[in-house]
Amino acid sequence: CGIVGCIGTNNAAEALIDSLERLEYRGYDSAGVALVSSGELNVIKSKGRIFRLKDKMSSKIFSRTGIGHTRWATHGSPSDINAHPHTDCTGKIAVVHNGIIENYQELKNMLISRGHRFVSETDTEVLAHLIEEHYVGDTKLALREAISEVEGSYAIAVVNRDEPDKIFAARKDSPMVIGLGENNYYLASDVTAFVKHTRNAIFLHDGDMAVLTNNGVSITDFLDNPVMREVTLVEWDI
Ligand code: GLU
Repeated sequence: CGIVGCIGTNNAAEALIDSLERLEYRGYDSAGVALVSSGELNVIKSKGRIFRLKDKMSSKIFSRTGIGHTRWATHGSPSDINAHPHTDCTGKIAVVHNGIIENYQELKNMLISRGHRFVSETDTEVLAHLIEEHYVGDTKLALREAISEVEGSYAIAVVNRDEPDKIFAARKDSPMVIGLGENNYYLASDVTAFVKHTRNAIFLHDGDMAVLTNNGVSITDFLDNPVMREVTLVEWDI
């Protein structure tokens, strides 16, 4: 189980696959990516090993922003549909998640009663619909409102076709670290995923949210107060 993200690279698809392969040692049953490019969101996912995901990916998807996931199923069997990323009803928001949403059934019932249609058996899918429910043009705000209703553990990364130059993230009881490149930024469950690109890392704390853009990273708490996190130079051999 692992999360990856990258923004500002020339070829997000390639960078994400490379990072996912570096996280393979953590174990997983399926893998997927969401790529944002000029007004489009492409989600590609597959049960099984990463080479299966690669087989499904057209090399033509050009994107500078993307997120990816290796899944270790807790809710819903390993399958193509239950693999992450999960999307909302409009197909513009994609979410990857490590952890468990404890109150997902309650949230799912509420969202279904409000007209949301679910396709997977996962706890994670509620996050995509909950963000959609709160979205009025500001994904960061929608994510903040969504997680205020969620109980459980999570490292979450979100992209939105309508805000193509951003990756949104939040963590509680599940690790997440940001890699600071030159004009590119990375997100991952651990530094192994991106250490080939940069050794400058910010380890997020529980209760941190982050927004990654081409120009930098901003970190806040769940109430949107800015927080300062130091940059660690990753010196150990990986
Ligand atoms: N609970 C989620 C699922 O079963 C995420 C599992 C994970 O951390 O990979 O889909």
